[in-house]
Amino acid sequence: MGLKKNPKLMSKKVFIKTFGCQMNEYDSNRIYEAVSKIGYKKTQIFDEANCYILNTCHIRDKAKEKVYHEIGRVKKNFKSKKKPVVIVAGCVAQAENNEIIKREPYIDIVIGPQSYHKINDAIINHLKKNEKEEQTDFDTFLKFDYFDKIKNNNSKVSSFLTIQEGCDKFCKFCVVPYTRGPEYSRSFYRIIDEAKQLIKNGSKEITLLGQNVNAYLYEEKNKRFRLSDLIMTLEEFSELKRIRYTTSHPIDMTDDLIECYGKSKKLVPFIHLPVQSGSNKILKLMNRKHTVEYYLSICEKLKKINTKIEFSSDFIIAYPGETEKDFEDTMKLVKKIKFINSYSFIYSSRPGTAASNLELIDDNIAKKRLKLIQNELFSHQSLKNKIIENTLVNVLVENKIRNQNKFFGRTEQMTAVIFNGEKNIEGKIVQVLIKSSNQNNLFGEIKLNKNTNAA
Ligand code: SF4
Repeated sequence: MGLKKNPKLMSKKVFIKTFGCQMNEYDSNRIYEAVSKIGYKKTQIFDEANCYILNTCHIRDKAKEKVYHEIGRVKKNFKSKKKPVVIVAGCVAQAENNEIIKREPYIDIVIGPQSYHKINDAIINHLKKNEKEEQTDFDTFLKFDYFDKIKNNNSKVSSFLTIQEGCDKFCKFCVVPYTRGPEYSRSFYRIIDEAKQLIKNGSKEITLLGQNVNAYLYEEKNKRFRLSDLIMTLEEFSELKRIRYTTSHPIDMTDDLIECYGKSKKLVPFIHLPVQSGSNKILKLMNRKHTVEYYLSICEKLKKINTKIEFSSDFIIAYPGETEKDFEDTMKLVKKIKFINSYSFIYSSRPGTAASNLELIDDNIAKKRLKLIQNELFSHQSLKNKIIENTLVNVLVENKIRNQNKFFGRTEQMTAVIFNGEKNIEGKIVQVLIKSSNQNNLFGEIKLNKNTNAA
């Protein structure tokens, strides 16, 4: 009885809606763990939240508008209930800061990605003083120092682990240098500690994350650690079965990293390596700092070391100044590399970036080019999946599909596999006989249990 009446002891619930990349997903999990220190329990039911956090992404078009739309929904939902503490986090919060609160006073706190260590103070201050809070400093070192002391309780079969944040490259279309700040690499030792914790929790696959993950460089006591050192150290953990990393920049594909594909048995033969365009003129206009020839040379080096390696990429279509010839060069590159899974979008400007005021290409031309490139990318993706039919693939089983006698897992190349399985196979690498496929998925039946590492 007493417990129910004492609001301080009643449990408070936090709901986080996450948009965007894997790093936002990782951040949302860490935010859950941070706010649990001041009594908030995670809920999946938006209606019962005492604290509503929107973790935003600024990469896609109309990101800002999406935020106001979402907050409008929250406002409507809680109209006749007690208002939750409303927080906007992530890259839109960083880019727009106080402007968001001015335009939508229903928002209580705006907090950028490098200030998450201050989230509890912001909530407490807001509740005490009923004032708006804005935290958008680039305190990356302090943030990781704070989170290093909070256990990562994620127990998914496949887990994310942020090792690096920010970017110094300033591609003209990109907001990351402004929203995540300069390149920062976490302590090698703290990353390994966190990886050990994730493995102890049950993770069999770890994806190392960074906006420029392969620019990772940590120095301590005259020792230098690169991404290759992290990979080869993780390789030693017997319970860990697969290692991935994303997102890479071509100019940071150093030889030590390429050599890992010859040495590591756990590093998957799949790389997401954004190229953005197949035209040197456009790459220069974008300030990408590499040429098409250089990109091809990296792919060749990787293929030489491990012929199984497959690539995926990102493409920006109709970047200002893109002619028919530039677009054809991109198509040529797509046909040459035969990417197995890529993201392609029509260029749209982001306020504050160097390209934001450039003249846009006619929308009909842009749409036509996007259709052509997607047809090529998707037909190759479907064909690749078709070729796999009637063969056995190694699948890391992530989970059982709810209300079905089927399981979900992924191949080394990240392709989703849905298959009929046995009990207790989650977290194991099993062989699946692929019976059919479509553009994005493979469908099959488990063949035999395989507890060994994927080759
Ligand atoms: S390298 Fe990547 S994160 Fe950095 S500015 Fe370019 S696109 Fe953005």
